[in-house]
Amino acid sequence: MDQILRQIRYELQQARFLAEQQAAERLRLALNNEAYREADAEVSRCMIAAARAEAMGEAGDKEEAAYQRALKHRTAVAKKYRISEQSFAPQYGCPLCNDTGYTEDGKICPCVRREYYRRFNLSCGLSPLGLADFSQCDPSVYAANEQEAAALRIKRLKDYAENYPNVKEINLLLYGKTGTGKTFLAECVASEMIQKGYTVLYLSSHSLNQLFLRYINERNTTLFERITQADFLVIDDLGSETIIKNITCELLQAALNTRMQTNKPFIITTNYDGLKLREHYGEKLFSRIASNKTQFLQFTGADLRIKRKKT
Ligand SMILES: [Zn+2]
Repeated sequence: MDQILRQIRYELQQARFLAEQQAAERLRLALNNEAYREADAEVSRCMIAAARAEAMGEAGDKEEAAYQRALKHRTAVAKKYRISEQSFAPQYGCPLCNDTGYTEDGKICPCVRREYYRRFNLSCGLSPLGLADFSQCDPSVYAANEQEAAALRIKRLKDYAENYPNVKEINLLLYGKTGTGKTFLAECVASEMIQKGYTVLYLSSHSLNQLFLRYINERNTTLFERITQADFLVIDDLGSETIIKNITCELLQAALNTRMQTNKPFIITTNYDGLKLREHYGEKLFSRIASNKTQFLQFTGADLRIKRKKT
């Protein structure tokens, strides 16, 4: 188990312990109230009497009625003294797993997976919380003759994010010149996916390269698994990294292969068009990137960063 996961497990355990302690404390305080304590004791007595009657094979109608009366009385007393009986149950942070980290069917809870990738992204120098989202999209930042195309790109990516996984092409390749908004829109899709509960690993191609290097140098297979197992892999600015011989292309190809087999999508932004990608990465890797499951989306227009600097 790696460090991040161990830490999350530890924190969950602490949270669970704290929630249970606080609930016990609330109950203890409520029982300091004499009227409530008596009403509660009466509920216990009636419950035992009803259970005994049932065990003896008696009808037990009288006992059951007394038990119901005692319950009602206790609720009334609680109301009178503003005691919240719901607060006696531990208030766990995650209603899916009650902070155990596992769902009922024994699977790792989505809360753990989400937190894991949030921290993993942070450890790679990226904060998923700082990602742009679709509400910030504004085609009017483009020149007048570019706005229609920009609005169309936004629409296509919004459709993708809304309909995923029911989309024909699960991978996205956003290509075009620097400063045309590729990264911005890739972030929008990523944050939409995080909101939908998917895990997202968001890396610049440079950070991805660094991860590959660490995986090789530290012989840390967990690092490679993180790349293959995240629900979404976003690689920003592919082509800007330095190609390390026997590492960059080979591991990227292996990672995309594995992801393809498990039907896990990628989103890639790049300044290269198809021709240049093939030239730069070779036929094998190119065929992984540009398979029939990849939607190509070209970004056009003037460099927005330069325009923004001018204004
Ligand atoms: Zn959970």
